[in-house]
Amino acid sequence: KFHLIDTGGIDVSEEDFNNEIIIQANIAIEEADIIVFVVNGLEELNQNDFIIRDILMKSGKKVLVAVNKLDNPKREENIYNYYELGFEDVLPISGEHSLGLSDLLDKITENFTENNMEEEKDDRIKFCLIGRPNVGKSSLVNALLNEEKVIVSPIAGTTRDAIDTEFTYNQKKYVAIDTAGIRKSGKIFERIEKYSVLRSMKAIERSDVCLLVINAEEGIIEHDKHIASYALEEGKPIIIVVNKWDEYEKETGTLENYKKQVYNKLSYLTYAPIIFISAKTGQRVDKLFGMINKVANSNSLRIPTATLNQVINEAIAVVQPPTDKGKRLKILYATQAQTKPPTFVIFVNNKELFHFSYERYLVNQIRSNFDLEGTPVRIISREKREDK
Ligand code: GDP
Repeated sequence: KFHLIDTGGIDVSEEDFNNEIIIQANIAIEEADIIVFVVNGLEELNQNDFIIRDILMKSGKKVLVAVNKLDNPKREENIYNYYELGFEDVLPISGEHSLGLSDLLDKITENFTENNMEEEKDDRIKFCLIGRPNVGKSSLVNALLNEEKVIVSPIAGTTRDAIDTEFTYNQKKYVAIDTAGIRKSGKIFERIEKYSVLRSMKAIERSDVCLLVINAEEGIIEHDKHIASYALEEGKPIIIVVNKWDEYEKETGTLENYKKQVYNKLSYLTYAPIIFISAKTGQRVDKLFGMINKVANSNSLRIPTATLNQVINEAIAVVQPPTDKGKRLKILYATQAQTKPPTFVIFVNNKELFHFSYERYLVNQIRSNFDLEGTPVRIISREKREDK
């Protein structure tokens, strides 16, 4: 599994070959593990290509040259000139006719390490802060690290990623994953939506818990929905952090109404807890630790099969499974197949009868009987003949 990101082209021949393009190119290069340098196979190499070549060479990253627009069968014969660029791997392709693409993909993924879910044993809880610029993510990281009893590990930043911060609080180890290069290259990443989203996605994949930080005044917008649904897709627990609560005008019922509005906009996230904080004054910031622990536990909760089936059987007794065209759905039994996120396999007589609404009912029953706050839950249905 990997992210493919398109830079939209680096044209150095234009007059406005300015800082913005250089910044974008550098970000793209910095973010990448492998770079595919696409050149036009119907034209001679030009000055533009060599300027880009120099930028890429300097990066020290692995570069594959893809010579595009080669759609004749003797494509290989046309690539020799392009070795002049000085890169080892030169591949003929035709994007339009899908030629040479599987070789290119093989080459791209050749040295990728498999992202193994059963990673090395790690007792640290890794969490990321995701959200738009200026919602207060870096202020919140600082506020967390300034909490009493927080001991920032001296080896912080020496592990996998220079922008991770490892610390201990109440004898528990945490790693704060910085998504936006908050303390690294300033705000450049965030200005360019594509890279900020990519960064957030990468951070989400590496985290045990995601804190979705929003600005109380602005509320939830598209960007937040996008990121939240990615976290859901990845099976990661989410805490919705409403920041700048100190500035928000409050009356009776404000808090409850605010919660309602958030869940209205993120209707698939009603299991995610919401916390109202101020990174500036430190209000309730210490409460976040307890919440992080809680949702991390939910995410790795394991429910014994017998207990699970007891809950399912009670649920079935209260609301009968639906019928369709004279046939009734039968829930035979359930078992938890996986954690992170909790994934339940439910054996049924006929999958087609297992409608979404009944599945949702069962999920709600499971949720109300076990501590699954903050974590997504997955259901897989399998058919099984009843006589077996
Ligand atoms: P980031 O871009 O998400 O990392 O946001 P920053 O942490 O840089 O904060 C953006 C601005 O919001 C800064 O001016 C902060 O001082 C301000 N800010 C952050 N948290 C709070 C808060 O809880 N209350 C108030 N009033 N301002 C805050």
